[in-house]
Amino acid sequence: MDKIIVLIGAPGAGKGTQARLLEERRGIPQISTGDMFREMKNSDTPLAKEVQAIMAAGKLVPDDVTFRMVGERTARESGSYILDGFPRTAVQAEMLEALAEEQNKKIEAILIDVPLDHLEKRMTGRRSCPVCGEIYNIYFKSPKNNNVCDFHPEAQLNHRADDTEEKVKVRLATYQEQTKPLIDYYENTGRLQKVNGEGEMEEIYRDIEKLI
Ligand SMILES: [Zn+2]
Repeated sequence: MDKIIVLIGAPGAGKGTQARLLEERRGIPQISTGDMFREMKNSDTPLAKEVQAIMAAGKLVPDDVTFRMVGERTARESGSYILDGFPRTAVQAEMLEALAEEQNKKIEAILIDVPLDHLEKRMTGRRSCPVCGEIYNIYFKSPKNNNVCDFHPEAQLNHRADDTEEKVKVRLATYQEQTKPLIDYYENTGRLQKVNGEGEMEEIYRDIEKLI
């Protein structure tokens, strides 16, 4: 049975990377609501006009409108697909059940599970070489010499302003707050699958592939 894959993962958990791998290797397209909204701006279907009016008024697009948009867009997909940006809430997750039934597909909710303190280190420890772009991590992959690139000893490594401990903590707390209801929904309906997101990219990919 074809699937609707809902990937859940905190910032830094590697969700985007895994979605890209699934697309490249298995031909499972990633369909994002961000792209849909962009498409709506340049379209003149009745739904597009409705969305344009809502956005022009500076209002939040209501769930039922987003849902119709998702329905129209995904109707074009004959096989499995990854849905990105929807559902974000338990209400939306319920809406998706109806869509899955209509499309005769099975929902597969997969959480890329990484402990928060590990994620924090991944993000706050990240450093990059301004010359070659090589990525280091002071916790997991430190350069041979403190704070300089292995290949460019003259270059001090960069630490992005977004990756300070304070900002990372806020980002992760926001994620948790927003995503917990969705995780609870899939957990309570007995459908949440977890893969350990602490390992290497390829390892995580293999675990995800086993589930789909
Ligand atoms: Zn370098």
